[in-house]
Amino acid sequence: MTTSTTASRETLGFQTEVKQLLHLMIHSLYSNREIFLRELISNASDACDKLRFEALHNDALYENQSELNIRISFDKDARTLTIADSGIGMSRDEVIANLGTIAKSGTRDFFSKLSGDQQKDANLIGQFGVGFYSAFIVADKVSVLTRRAGEKADQGVRWESDGGGEFSIEMVDRATRGTEITLHLREGQDDLLAGYKLREIIKKYSNHIVQPILMQKEEWKDGKYETLDEDETVNQASALWARSKNEITEEQYKEFYKHVGHDYDDPLAWSHARVEGKQEYTQLLYIPSHAPFDLYDRQARHGIKLYVRRVFIMDDAEQLMPQYMRFVRGVVDSADLPLNVSREILQESKDIEAIRKGCTGKVLGLLSDLAENDKEKYAKFWGEFGQVLKEGVGEDFVNKDKIAALMRFATTKADTAEQTVSLKEYIARMKDGQEKIYFVTADSFNAAKNSPHLEVFRKKGIEVLLLSDRVDEWVVSNLHEFESKQLVSVAKGGLDLGALEDAAEKQEQEKQADEFKDLTDKIKTSLADKVKEVRVTHRLTDSPACLVAGEHDISGNLARLMKAAGQKAPNAQPILEINPRHPVVLRLQDENVRFDDWAAVLFDQALLAEGGQLDDPAGFVKRINQLMLEMGK
Ligand code: ADP
Repeated sequence: MTTSTTASRETLGFQTEVKQLLHLMIHSLYSNREIFLRELISNASDACDKLRFEALHNDALYENQSELNIRISFDKDARTLTIADSGIGMSRDEVIANLGTIAKSGTRDFFSKLSGDQQKDANLIGQFGVGFYSAFIVADKVSVLTRRAGEKADQGVRWESDGGGEFSIEMVDRATRGTEITLHLREGQDDLLAGYKLREIIKKYSNHIVQPILMQKEEWKDGKYETLDEDETVNQASALWARSKNEITEEQYKEFYKHVGHDYDDPLAWSHARVEGKQEYTQLLYIPSHAPFDLYDRQARHGIKLYVRRVFIMDDAEQLMPQYMRFVRGVVDSADLPLNVSREILQESKDIEAIRKGCTGKVLGLLSDLAENDKEKYAKFWGEFGQVLKEGVGEDFVNKDKIAALMRFATTKADTAEQTVSLKEYIARMKDGQEKIYFVTADSFNAAKNSPHLEVFRKKGIEVLLLSDRVDEWVVSNLHEFESKQLVSVAKGGLDLGALEDAAEKQEQEKQADEFKDLTDKIKTSLADKVKEVRVTHRLTDSPACLVAGEHDISGNLARLMKAAGQKAPNAQPILEINPRHPVVLRLQDENVRFDDWAAVLFDQALLAEGGQLDDPAGFVKRINQLMLEMGK
């Protein structure tokens, strides 16, 4: 990757994705250019947090200078703007890794998959935190001067780039630790070279930053600003979450979210509380308004920021939130944990368990509240995160019922893929005599909606939940009842509609089972090991046959999902059910010559109808053609 070298100065090429990113950012985020300052201040603040944390174990890192701050200055003549921090700084290797590549592989993959139009969408770009590179929105040259805390003065590093294809890097002497970023402004950006303008931007986007953001004091004199030889703190510089709720404006909550959530959009909702009692802690938890691109990547970092008595301890403390709430962002600040707490300790800590329980309860409360009082927002939440929340039904035994109450489903009532119906609503409109909650699972909404198993339910006007999310099989294998109503698959076991059928219907069914005994036996012999049993059914009105799973077997859909995921599925034979009123079935009663072909076709089409794959598709096609030809004769 080296393209040229002088004595100690090297020129390196950016990773391809960085080049693309730079190009797009400069062109698409231009209208929102002020955010560059927020990004750089945010990085500076993180660097100070990191130093404070590392110094807990190694005081020498402070180099006898424990003050942590961020300083913003500008030079009108040179047309430069400088953001300096007294944080952790970077070594040469860190500079190359952090400012030459996009380190997070998930980000890189996501980025490379975006289409041209998507790439122009500032919101999408914002989702993966462009951070440092946003400097190039306003600058045509950026130099970074940095030294890692605790290193010798000759370990300073200078990085420089014009945002094209490459950057230069060289070792320099630097007395002070921390990082200084100088932006050489593009043509037309001169309004940024004014104290009041910078103060305005800082107050707007970075007021909540915990470290003081310092600027040289200015005084209005004789019709212009004069700089004084004195610094002042521009931001509020106190931990937002530590202030009381009524002192915090909605705007401040939103602004803080953008910092902790690495998001450009406003959050959907939040909950801020101080908890006292056995455990004392403050939590400020946010629900984002859109899912991050790596929501389903189990390796992706997630979780919230952990502080102990306002000292930053770690990012992505996943132990503070259950997996199924991995979309939650925010801060927990504990009054009780030791400052030297590590990830390993977190895993076993009883205190953390109590905090996690508390946080989980708060988020569930927040969601119930939204579901009740702001249906539109809740629908948005469900669309973005519903599938993740559903995982909780199997993961969080204690809160299972609460999570189930928050779930929303597509059903046969509306027949659209939109998931809007709650179990409560379903129960409230159950038919007279209906005692169970019926559902069908399939691997797509259309397969669920058109499933032959629904025929009798449609005929009788009984609502059925249409489940086609991957996680749904997991949901129904963990959720057996809701408010004392059993959840029952329409494709499993014998169909007992209880009081939904009258005595005459039941009698008729028994009669048909007798009448068709010879035929079902004959089909069973013909299909042999392919099926466990062949029987007459009353669940069908239009289709000749369908497959059902035994009461205690796994469903066909689940078996297919497991196979697709490369897992071994237990080999359960299905039950073939035939419709005694269907002409094809009636026709079969008189068939002697080609009985085996008819039986095989009956089985194969039932398998196809529920979204299964044929063992021998060519055989199926051949049989169909043969039968068609004979019909034509
Ligand atoms: P992100 O902050 O989302 O990780 P950035 O592109 O903004 O992405 O920064 C990349 C990395 O560069 C940071 O994670 C951090 O390690 C490092 N970095 C950026 N700015 C600073 C700074 N002022 N001091 C120390 N390290 C920094």
